[in-house]
Amino acid sequence: MASLQDSPGDSSFVLNDKDVKDFPFSLDSDDDMGSTSDPANDKDKLHPEVLKDLETHQAFMRQAINVAEEALAGGETPVACVLVYSKEVVARGMNDTNRSLNGTRHAEFLAISEFLSKFPVSKMKETDLYVTVEPCIMCASALRQYGIRCVYFGCGNDRFGGNGSVLAVHSDKGLEEGYPSYGGIFRKEAIMLLRRFYIQENENAPNPRAKGNRELKPVV
Ligand SMILES: [Zn+2]
Repeated sequence: MASLQDSPGDSSFVLNDKDVKDFPFSLDSDDDMGSTSDPANDKDKLHPEVLKDLETHQAFMRQAINVAEEALAGGETPVACVLVYSKEVVARGMNDTNRSLNGTRHAEFLAISEFLSKFPVSKMKETDLYVTVEPCIMCASALRQYGIRCVYFGCGNDRFGGNGSVLAVHSDKGLEEGYPSYGGIFRKEAIMLLRRFYIQENENAPNPRAKGNRELKPVV
């Protein structure tokens, strides 16, 4: 974990000390740190399109959450995703920016890369992404250019989100066709993973205040 303290690699999530407190995901009044997810409560916030087949969406998002757990165990920012083609998970990705010190190695990019090693890019039009955190602007754009069919995400990303939180890269008028995007599936689980990561980082920091160098810029 010590190596994480000085890692400059993660550029899409908030890693400075202040943000542990101010992390946008944490400001919701109904977000009790100690509570587990309340599916009944979450359900109210889900899009009708998601509610049509909630079990299926939850099953795929659960797989993304599981991959994010692996990321957390490995000291990575716990953000992960799966790509679903023909009702099967065909590619996975977890954030890899801390380990690689490469700010482009977001979960989505790794999953796209695995997907393209198996399928022609044209199949992306029949493929859905389940990702624990709203894709950042960079990934939202890549997903659009690759022609993803639909994106489902857990929690929003108020700092860097490209699916509506900061910019609506998925639906803005552009050259390529946009894609629908639905948030809130296992939102609390996704947030809790991030909190566990930041708390873990803070606890391991020799001087938790000395993290100014980790203030990171958004990727555009
Ligand atoms: Zn990204």
